Amino acid sequence: MNNNYDIAIIGGGIIGMATAYYLSSKNIKLIVIERETIGSGSTSRCIGGIRQQFSTPSSIKIMKENLKLFSEMEEEFGFSVEFEQGGYLLLAHNEKLLEVFKNNVKIQQQEGVKVSLISAGEAKKIVPSLNVDGVLGAAYCPDDAQAYPFYILKGYKEGIEKNGGQILTGKPVVNLQKKDNFLIELEDGTKIEADKVLLSAGPWTKEIGKIIGLDLPIFPERHEAMITSRMDKFFDPMIVDYRSDGCYFQQLQTGQIIGCFTPIPNVPGIREDVSPDFLPQIAKRMVRLVPALKNASILRHWSGSYSMTPDGSPIVDETNIKDLYVSAGMSGHGFMFGPALGKYMAHFMLTGKWLVDFSEFAIDRDFSGKESLK
Ligand SMILES: Cc1cc2nc3c(=O)[nH]c(=O)nc-3n(C[C@H](O)[C@H](O)[C@H](O)COP(=O)(O)OP(=O)(O)OC[C@H]3O[C@@H](n4cnc5c(N)ncnc54)[C@H](O)[C@@H]3O)c2cc1C
Repeated sequence: MNNNYDIAIIGGGIIGMATAYYLSSKNIKLIVIERETIGSGSTSRCIGGIRQQFSTPSSIKIMKENLKLFSEMEEEFGFSVEFEQGGYLLLAHNEKLLEVFKNNVKIQQQEGVKVSLISAGEAKKIVPSLNVDGVLGAAYCPDDAQAYPFYILKGYKEGIEKNGGQILTGKPVVNLQKKDNFLIELEDGTKIEADKVLLSAGPWTKEIGKIIGLDLPIFPERHEAMITSRMDKFFDPMIVDYRSDGCYFQQLQTGQIIGCFTPIPNVPGIREDVSPDFLPQIAKRMVRLVPALKNASILRHWSGSYSMTPDGSPIVDETNIKDLYVSAGMSGHGFMFGPALGKYMAHFMLTGKWLVDFSEFAIDRDFSGKESLK
């Protein structure tokens, strides 16, 4: 095997695979190196939500592009990725949050997102089984969506391989150095050379960065999730309850309810174990919001990582080591950000130019700001 590549991508989650997919059509010699199997990190553990309801113009613009890319996948890949626009319904149970929603909705509307601030009564019309006790208002965007991560990874994998890109699985990268070009060493001793490298190893990106002297502000946290068995479809949007004992969940096209909550306090580290408290808690929280769920049967429970940054936005940029790029720190929205980040990063790696303003995701930005809807 000739082990010299134009571009090597470390990590085969949605970020690495989307970037590789867009690079693969550009007549370059490309390799994706994945430690386990494609999607085995955070991507296969996510719940598939896609929303445009962010608080900064850059994130909103990127999510508008993402929505378009997700909606085109069925035609592009030749099979359904279970993309469905059932909306996102964000509930405010206090005045402070309602104020945040008001400001965000204004910014989102300026960016052309079909979103509105609605009353509790209107929320009840959208989800008739919703308990709106204590709901002061809600932000609702009917165009927000869901899709199935595994099918999307399959589409990217087939596209990359069809275009001649190579995908190595079961091959952890254990060393990364730069001389004239990059030298990548795998656990089995294989050595790979590449002119450019993208670090897209999700929560592990910080550790790989350290090998080559980068100190990336990425802090993994454990998040748990669950799925029920199938039920007749009875609501469409992702319901998001931001109370400290809230949760978020949606009903898939195939009828299962899939959901999570953000633990308080957070659980730092890359962990894939689950806690005994999660299921009783999420069951209680979901039934409080949708009492009809009291007879739902939970099928499975798992955990994965959110890769947090100090301001809740990803780091997508070239590092201070020339030709070494990073796309990581995706918080709870790397799945929905993936396709457009991949498309824009691919263009940036080839041309040195961003197609849209990416300063919000710069590696040397001031991290003191905050994405209000993490
Ligand atoms: C419970 C839960 C629910 C979520 N829900 C949503 C949601 O609804 N919507 C949304 O947008 N996001 C959601 N997320 C977040 C989303 O899953 C992540 O942001 C996204 O998957 C990150 O993708 P990634 O490609 O950066 O990382 P990953 O998917 O983790 O991919 C990184 C890959 O790098 C590989 N790797 C690591 N180290 C090495 C090495 N040394 N050598 C080679 N390969 C290596 C890993 O094996 C892994 O496959 C959720 C996350 C969780 C945990």
